[in-house]
Amino acid sequence: MATRSTHNKNNSAVKRILQEARELANDPSTDYVAAPLEEDIFEWHCTIRGSPDTEFEGGLYHVRILLPGEYPFRPPSIMMLTPNGRFELNTKICISFTNYHEELWQPAWGIRTAIIGLQGFFPLKGKDAVGVGAIEYPVSERKRLAALSRNWTCPHCQQPNIELLPDPPAASSDAAPAQAQPPEAAVSSAPPAIVAHVPSGPVAAHPPTPGEGRHVPAELAAMTASMTPFAPQAVVPQRQPQQQQQAVRQPQTNVLAMFDFAIATTLMLLAYFLGKKLGVL
Ligand SMILES: [Zn+2]
Repeated sequence: MATRSTHNKNNSAVKRILQEARELANDPSTDYVAAPLEEDIFEWHCTIRGSPDTEFEGGLYHVRILLPGEYPFRPPSIMMLTPNGRFELNTKICISFTNYHEELWQPAWGIRTAIIGLQGFFPLKGKDAVGVGAIEYPVSERKRLAALSRNWTCPHCQQPNIELLPDPPAASSDAAPAQAQPPEAAVSSAPPAIVAHVPSGPVAAHPPTPGEGRHVPAELAAMTASMTPFAPQAVVPQRQPQQQQQAVRQPQTNVLAMFDFAIATTLMLLAYFLGKKLGVL
């Protein structure tokens, strides 16, 4: 049978469509399967899986995708074929990537984009779900249709949905290991996150002490050290706003303040040694 593709291999739309068909075949998904019809690559049939944790869970829906001759510069049209309770059948669905919103379509998108977008539109509720081709059946009816959809057979493809897109075999058997693994994964991945928040080390909050070191006993050095911050601060706050304290601290330490401090330190040293001597005697 002569296909349209064999006649138009130089057509840019055909090239693009064949490229997408190859890409989808080489990188299949367990959530959808799509391929062009043999007799017309501008028409694709696709089966998509209902999203988990929605009323469409377990459902398999057959979709018809029509590509315009100007593809990818004009968007595809999408029509639902399997009864689903969310979209009318055989009606072009109004969603942002279909021909109802041409201005939103981008040539960089593709058939895979459209399929994933359609899946995302399934569970929408309320005003987000409104549009041409949208219907709002009760949840119970959607669930009933989801169950029926698995064995629904496309008249053209002549294969039930469940054969076109079988359930992933690992889904149920993986449940147990999947539950056992997360704690380990959490433990192994936790340390880097925690480490990132730990401060790099204690800040050396060691104020410079004029009388520090040398012959001054440790206790006294500690005493004077704890006092030193008061000297500049006692002077500065009187005239300087807080923000300027740091910048002006050095210049503002005037001679008088230095004398005061020197005297205070000397008196303390004398008192210390006197006390020590008296204590010894
Ligand atoms: Zn089909």
